This record gives sequence, C-alpha cells and structure tokens, in this order.
Amino acid sequence: MLRSIASYFFKIAKYIALAIVIVYLLHSKWYHLSAKKNIAPIIRDTLVNNASLALKNLDVPIGAVLLYNNKIIGVGYNTMMRDKNISGHAEINAINEAITRHGIGILAKLKSDSTSLISTYEPCMMCKGMIQEQGIKHVLFMKEKSWYHWLHNDIKALKYDMQKRQVKGGVVQDSLFMLHPHYPEKNKQ
Ligand SMILES: [Zn+2]
Repeated sequence: MLRSIASYFFKIAKYIALAIVIVYLLHSKWYHLSAKKNIAPIIRDTLVNNASLALKNLDVPIGAVLLYNNKIIGVGYNTMMRDKNISGHAEINAINEAITRHGIGILAKLKSDSTSLISTYEPCMMCKGMIQEQGIKHVLFMKEKSWYHWLHNDIKALKYDMQKRQVKGGVVQDSLFMLHPHYPEKNKQ
C-alpha cells in the first residue's frame, strides 16, 4: 500500500517537475518562438558607436537606444567604471538620457505601445526592472543572456522574497508622504 502511494507520488512529482521546466523555459525563452527582427542600419550604427564609447574607460561595450515611434529619443552606453556608479548600465543610461533631453514626465506622456528599447546585449534584471517601471513596451536585443543567467537570477529573486521582512513603522512612511505637496498622488506609486 505504502509502496503504491510512494510510486504514485513520484509519478505526479515527475510531471510537476516537467511542467515547471516547461513554464520556466517559456517564461525566459518565449522570444525564441518568433523570427529575429531586423533593425534599421542607422540604429545598428548608433548602438555599435555607443557601445564602443564604453571601451574608453574599460566599461563593458554595451550600447542601448530608446525609441518612440521608431525615432531615437535617448541613447546610452555602459558607464559603471567611468562614473563609479553600479547603476550605469547602457539601458538605464538611455532611459535617463531621454528624461534629461525631454523632461522627467516624458515616458508617462508617451503612448507605451510605441516605445521600444534596443540593446546590444539582453538587459539584466536591474535594467528589466527599470524598463517595466517606466512602461516601455517593446524590448529588443542583439545577443541573448544564457538560460543559466536567468535561472540564477530567478533563484536570487525567490531568495529575496523569502528573506525580506517588514519592520514596525509604516506610519512613519505615511507621515513622510504627507510632507509632499502632491500627497496623496505620490502615495499611489
Ligand atoms: Zn543592466
């Protein structure tokens, strides 16, 4: 009886494990199901030229552009070494450059469906967060990151969620929100 329960359990566990692997592969590698897109030569040249600029300071040569209706509104390249700033990734710099050029609220004003970010290398988890936060709909990249990279990052994200803890003092943050002249709008973030 016990043996048949155990064998039934292992049979089910095998299918669950297979389902997890399939869902994981679809989650991180879904784009493999569509054909690779071509990008305009001028955009490719801008990406390569920007990526090359990173080399001057021994930054990893990665370039990115932010497009709106297929027009460049921001460009960036890796500046971590140059600026001694760990958030100086090409994608974040391209978004920040668009904001510097066009104003802090620019991305909120644009139609999300018409915004695209193109990078020479698949954006990392930090840049992915920024892209999502800013509502940039389309993400394109030339070279992909490995499945191992994403598996490792997904495990780190899971550990983060398991290890985060709340401390007492939510009311302190509420009183800080109240100091802002546009409260409660800011509290809705
Ligand atoms: Zn990044």
